[in-house]
Amino acid sequence: MRGNSDIAALIVAAGSGSRAGQGVPKQYRMIGGKSVLAHAIDSLMVHPAIDQVQVVIGEGQESLYRSAIGARSLPPPVTGGASRRESVLAGIKAIKSEHVLIHDAARPFVPGAVIDRLRSALDTHSGAVPVLPLVDTIVRGGETLGDTLDRSELFRVQTPQAFVTIEIIAAHGQWPDDREATDDAQILRAVGGQVAMVEGDSSLEKLTYEADFIAAEQRLQAGLVTRIGQGFDVHAFGGDGPVWLGGVAIPHSRGLAGHSDADVALHALTDALLGAAALGDIGDHFPPSDPRWKGAPSRLFLEHAVALIEERGGIIDNADLTIICEAPRIGPYRDSMRASIAGLLRLPVTRISVKATTTERLGFTGRAEGIAAQAVATIRMKDFK
Ligand code: MG
Repeated sequence: MRGNSDIAALIVAAGSGSRAGQGVPKQYRMIGGKSVLAHAIDSLMVHPAIDQVQVVIGEGQESLYRSAIGARSLPPPVTGGASRRESVLAGIKAIKSEHVLIHDAARPFVPGAVIDRLRSALDTHSGAVPVLPLVDTIVRGGETLGDTLDRSELFRVQTPQAFVTIEIIAAHGQWPDDREATDDAQILRAVGGQVAMVEGDSSLEKLTYEADFIAAEQRLQAGLVTRIGQGFDVHAFGGDGPVWLGGVAIPHSRGLAGHSDADVALHALTDALLGAAALGDIGDHFPPSDPRWKGAPSRLFLEHAVALIEERGGIIDNADLTIICEAPRIGPYRDSMRASIAGLLRLPVTRISVKATTTERLGFTGRAEGIAAQAVATIRMKDFK
């Protein structure tokens, strides 16, 4: 046991069901500007007791996974098997912690209080599951109404389900290959394991139907406040071309001087995003004195700002850039810059504007001594500490 952080989270994201729409498996659908899977990852990763988050994906889902997790730093995903049970078994072998939470990616919101209750229950049990009572009348039925069941004895079981890692691995090993299991608690019980029931949470509901996604979207947006940020940057010409602008290399007789690739447009945009989130400026996060950023592609700075906003549940809505120079000519590269920035922000290209202007040969830009860039970005974010 490593202090208080002795739980790993295993997220099973191997499903291929796409009945809820968008044409991708539901764990890769976007809600509130990020994938369902990324919501699940973030809500587990933020808990102080969780020291590892391992994802199991389906075969052929590598590129969906990569775009779903963005810049988050996670161990490589494990590829699952033909059934959920085989996928879990493949994943738990990669778990190094004493305890494991096994979670379905289609449940994007995991309250910390549920994790606390599950973890406490593992002090006295080898497994624990979150449950909720049934509120509706429950009956048997066929063509006509059958008997009414006593719902006080019945519960709905959610995930994450918590286990002592070696015990759930052993239980999986004994489960017959030709039988399916509804969940991991059933597998532990089959070998006599004691599974505690702790109070679940309505926010753990699984997203299944289109209405569930709409409700999740509304819930995420309820507490968001629109925030605007602006950024400004200048780099002087120095050395050979190309000029990097908006992540695009533009052929030119001279390049821009700078510690990184001197992409003045991405620097202004990074500052606009950091400004909207009130998270300081690019120099705070990437000091020019740090040799790591020498010659670095500026998309790293922008991706970092995006990750900081997404970690806080924020959504980026749009960005508008103005590039101020006499040369090179921006027009022919405008659409590739928009596409490049849209890719980095994971937004449709229609949310990204790139404009160019000159200063009528006045001032340092007018004398072609350098290039200036301004950016404005809009985000929506909850207040955070
Ligand atoms: Mg700069």
